[in-house]
This record gives sequence, C-alpha cells and structure tokens, in this order.
Amino acid sequence: MSLKTPISQAGLTYKLHKKQLEKLDIKTLEELLYHIPLRYEDYSIISKINIIQPGETVTIQGKIINAKNQYTRKGFNIQKITVEDETGKIDCIWFNQPFVLKSLKENSFVSIAGRVENPKTITVKEYEETNPIEKQTTHTAKIIPIYPETKGLTSKWIRNRIAQLLQTSQQEISEHLPKSIINKHNLTNLQNAIHEIHFPQNLQSAQKAKERLAFDELFLTQLGALQRKKEWEKQKVTYGFNIAKHRDKINKFWKQLPFELTNAQKRAVQEIFLDLNSKIPMNRLLEGDVGSGKTVVAAIAIYIAYLNGFQSALMAPTEILAQQHHNTISSLLNPLGVKVKLITGSKKPKKTKTKDPNSEFTIQDQDDFDILIGTHALISNNVNFKKLGLVVIDEQQRFGVEQRTILRNKGINPHFLTMTATPIPRTIILTIYGDLELSYLDEMPKGRKTVKTWLAPPNKRQSAYEWIRKKVNEKDERGKGNQVFIICPLIEESENIKSVKAAVREYEKLKNFVFKEFNVDLLHGKMKSKEKDEILNKFRDGKTDILVATPVVEVGIDIPNATIMLIETSERFGLSALHQLRGRVGRGQKESYCFLFTESDNPKTLERLRSLEKIYFGPELAELDLKLRGPGDIYGTAQHGKTGLKIASFSNLSLIQKTKTEAEKILQNINSHPKLLKKLESFKTSNISPD
Ligand code: ADP
Ligand code: MG
Repeated sequence: MSLKTPISQAGLTYKLHKKQLEKLDIKTLEELLYHIPLRYEDYSIISKINIIQPGETVTIQGKIINAKNQYTRKGFNIQKITVEDETGKIDCIWFNQPFVLKSLKENSFVSIAGRVENPKTITVKEYEETNPIEKQTTHTAKIIPIYPETKGLTSKWIRNRIAQLLQTSQQEISEHLPKSIINKHNLTNLQNAIHEIHFPQNLQSAQKAKERLAFDELFLTQLGALQRKKEWEKQKVTYGFNIAKHRDKINKFWKQLPFELTNAQKRAVQEIFLDLNSKIPMNRLLEGDVGSGKTVVAAIAIYIAYLNGFQSALMAPTEILAQQHHNTISSLLNPLGVKVKLITGSKKPKKTKTKDPNSEFTIQDQDDFDILIGTHALISNNVNFKKLGLVVIDEQQRFGVEQRTILRNKGINPHFLTMTATPIPRTIILTIYGDLELSYLDEMPKGRKTVKTWLAPPNKRQSAYEWIRKKVNEKDERGKGNQVFIICPLIEESENIKSVKAAVREYEKLKNFVFKEFNVDLLHGKMKSKEKDEILNKFRDGKTDILVATPVVEVGIDIPNATIMLIETSERFGLSALHQLRGRVGRGQKESYCFLFTESDNPKTLERLRSLEKIYFGPELAELDLKLRGPGDIYGTAQHGKTGLKIASFSNLSLIQKTKTEAEKILQNINSHPKLLKKLESFKTSNISPD
C-alpha cells in the first residue's frame, strides 16, 4: 500500500467509509493525509486524580473499577465509569451515549480527557483504552485535531486513520521544495509539517505547519497555472475567427437585443473579439456578479464562431441551468439561423452502430447543430463535434481542469470562454487562475434595482408572511402579481435526503396553511430533470405564485417576475451564498425584496446578516465573509470549495505574492526539479473537483 492507494483498495474500514470520505473530497490515502484540522483541543495536561480542580480540562489515566448505564427520570440516560489511579478515583460521565460502554469494560486501562465539574466528576470529551505501561494515546493526553466531519465520519475515526498513516508512511512523504526556497522563507520541512498539522507539539508548531502547507498550496496552484499558460501559448490555431467580414451581421445581432450593453459588457466583448481573432486560442475568464449579463456576452462569441463555420459547446453545472441557457441562447440566436441543441444527463444523444469511416465520430447528428448546450453530459465519450471552435463553460469553478481538457480534445484547440459569478476580488483571481485572461463585469445593467433586504427575526415572521400575501395579490399593469422564492433551510452543503425532507415539510406547511389561497410549488435537486423543468417553466409562466426550493436554485436561474425572496435559517449561509441567492430576484423592472429569516439571537450573527441590508457588491461581501468567519462555521468549507483552496486563504495577499514570485522563478528551469514536477502532477489531479 502506498499513499497513492485509492480509498476503495485501502482495506475494509476505508472501503466501508468510501462514500463519506468522498464527501470530504478524499479519494486516496494521500488526500486523507492532507485533510487539515479545523482546530485543536488541548488535552495535553495529564493529572493525577487527587489534584484535579473543577473548571480544568485535563487528561486522567487509570483503571476502570466500575462501569454502568444509568437511566434518569426524563428518559435521559447517563454512562458512568469510575476510574482509579494511585492517588484516588473519580466518576467520568457521558450523556446518552450507551455505545461507549461496549468498549469500556471494568479492569481495563483508560485515558480520559474532559472537563472537571463541581462536585468532582469528569464530563468526558475524548476517551481511549490504553496499555498501562506504554500509555500510547491518540485522542487524549495531547493536543488533538478536530477535523471537518461529515455524517457517519467522526473526527475520532479520521484521527485514528491518520495516526496510523503517519506511522506507516513517514518514508513516503518526501520533500519536493528546493532547499533554497525552504531556507529563504524559513519553512518547516514537509515531513515535519504533515506530522505537526495533525498532532502538534504545541500550537505554535501547528501554526508553522499550516504556514508551510499553505505555502505549498499557493505555490503549486500558481506553478500549475503558469505551466498551463506556457503550454497554452504554444498551441496555435490555424484559424483566427474573422470578425470584420461579418460586421453587418454582428450589428444586426446588437440591434435585435431588447437592451443596450453596459460599458463593462462592451469592454468584455471587445476583449473577446481580439482573442477570437488571434492565432492563439482564447483562454478567458468572464467574471461578473449574478445578473451582470454574462450570457449575452457568451452568445455573441458563439455567434462569431457560427459565422466562421464553427460549432460551439456550452457546459453548465446543472440541468436547470443548461435548460435555461438553451432557452436564452435559442431566443437570441435562432432568429439568426443558428441551430441550438440541448443534451443533459437524461437526454443523451443516441449512439449509432455504423461508424462513418471518414470520421471518428459516433453521433449520427453531429452536423445537426451549431451549438450544443448541456451539463457534463457534454464530456461523455459519445458526444462529438464536427468542427468545435469554441467552448463556453458557465460557473467554471464547478468543473475541473481535466474536464476542460476532455472538451478541448473534442475540437482542434478550440477557444475557451469560462464564466463565473464567484465574487473573488480581481487581483486574487488573477493569481489563482493565473493562466486565464480576465474580463470583469463590474457594472450592472441599467435600471437594475438593488434588492431591498431585511433581517426578519422570529417575531417578524407573521408580518412578513402578511406582507408577502399583499404583494402576491398586488397586480401590475399586465395583471401579474409578484412571485416569490422561499428557500428552505440549509441542512448540509450538498443536497441530501434530510434537506429534501425539510423542504417538503416547509412546502406542505406553506401550501396547506400559510398560503392556502396561492399556487405553491416545490423544487429540489432530487427531482427528475423533466419534473424540474416543468416546475420551473410553470413558475416562469406565472402559473405558480410561490416556489419553495432547496438552496439548489443558487446558481444562475433567471426569472424576471420573481421579486421576493425569503430565506430560512439564513445564518447557516455565508454572505456570498446569500448574495447569490438574492441575485435570483431583482432581475426585472419591478422593485424586489429579500427577507433573511433567522432564529439566531447571537449579536455577531445578526450583525453579519445585517451587512446584507447595506452592502450590494459581491466582492465586498466575500471579503467580509472571510473576515467574520469562524473556523467551525457550517458554511466555511463551501466558501473554500469555490476557490479550490483547502489550506491557504485567498485573502493572504502577501503569501500569494511571495509564492507567485517563487513559482515564476522556478518555472524557468523546472525540469531540473524532478521531485517538484512529480508533486505538481499529483497536486493537479487531486485538485479536480468531484462531480
Ligand atoms: P449572469 O451574469 O448572472 O449570468 P444573465 O446573463 O443571466 O446574468 O443576465 C441577467 C438578466 O439581465 C437577463 O434577463 C438578461 O437578459 C438581462 N441583461 C443582460 N444584459 C443586459 C443589459 N445590458 N441591459 C439590461 N438587461 C440586461
Ligand atoms: Mg449566468
């Protein structure tokens, strides 16, 4: 077994937890070793029983002389063991955890970490059996790591595995950074860093370890980006798209739009035109807040490709979005003769048996479209193109480098346009995605109203409902009332059964009690895509007044008549996520509103949420999110996921700068650093986000 061993082949206990590990992005033993603690608990003080004092957090060690389960009146039960060392004995207590007594038997030796109560008992935090002589411990008697967990996978389990891995694979962790860099930046060596990040001697050494690993992460990220950029620039396309020749048609396209482009959109279009015209394939990132109008910019690029006789592909992260792009792009480009086609997971094109001897393609109707829109179904083997010249990827942070490569190989060095609404400040995007050119839409379309936002504590719930009722009934000049999104509680980051159940409950409450007189509908990610389409179409057509949805609607949905958004348990979301959610409304001409419901009475939480009442600029909220975020916050990892950074923070500008300089320097003679090259390879593949 080596660190590269996939989880599924690493033995039974791993195999049994494969699903949960995948949720944490862990697919190999090495990735487990790089699963970084969120924080630490200090159980390093080992005390004799007779000297411990109430209020202390300590570890005691001794023999169990009694173990029992006690039931209390209120259906509570307590597990109590009595532990004795040479100085005395003490009761150690758990609440409602009967399983602990399965492993803790009388006469065995234990090490117990917990808080000393008054009168003297110990509320147990961590425990383990020990050998009375060696007293080797993993969970007590030291500073112990607390990890990002997931249901069915505790820190204790992770800690056990990592402790074992650290013993068996020390040899395999080999330094990849050149000595000169290590010395210059006063970094701790890799072996030491990996050990200390999990089981630190003290908190300073944990910090030092984290600095080293953050350095690695930013250094490798940027080195990878620079390397890709260098490779990219070597590719030549035999074609640059001719734009001047088609001026008339392009002008016609602009004329048929119901609006004028913003200056930011015009700038982006110019930048894209220059790229498309050149002999090096475009590799551009179009960044813009939700609603800033990225789609129409993509549409013009697609149109140019079409005018030059090339096909395009547009990939979106969800079926709902793919469907929506299909509608938008069709309405923009169909009238100009562009054939738009949609494939999604459920609508895969049929394979044909007979292969055209002159081509490697297996789709019968590869000629039948000018643009193919879809989810990652697009990268499947049996999707092929006749002449793919442009790839557009929406919400690019959801796709990995490898998926881009597959798409690229379906054409001959096609141009790439990737789009994102991830509100990361510009300078930082440039460093982390250093291989991409950037167009930045820093301006909203004219007439776009800011979404009036209010925090609604529990005592405002009824009046908020009443207000919504009034608004839904209030018809505009076209006889249309306002439409409402109600976003259900965030239970877990990814959609799971629990979230769906919560959504169904909320839906039934609203439909049968609160908003009986309205058409209320439900949308969640576990529905079949056909069902989702129908529900969204009904909502878009105004047949539904209120759409209850899980947070899946976060990405990209565009329904101009929806003007009210109500978000339940808003404290569980990061500010950026809330901002993206409220970006679903305020897309038409009407005034729009967002209610942030919260049960929290924590002043800090309320203040954090209130910042949405005042700030309407995505990148500013993203920065604030970072500043206010505590390590244990439930929404913490979601934010990280978006940048692909697991250890470093993208707000650490000076480290970004330092590592960039080193990466640029070493790129010149990278081939004389074989270890670094090897590390870079494995780093790249491990950074591909799972789907
Ligand atoms: P996003 O950048 O979030 O993908 P979209 O492309 O979905 O935004 O655009 C949001 C809405 O704004 C769409 O309804 C689109 O038609 C409209 N829109 C785009 N550009 C402009 C503009 N320059 N003026 C007015 N409305 C615009
Ligand atoms: Mg969009």
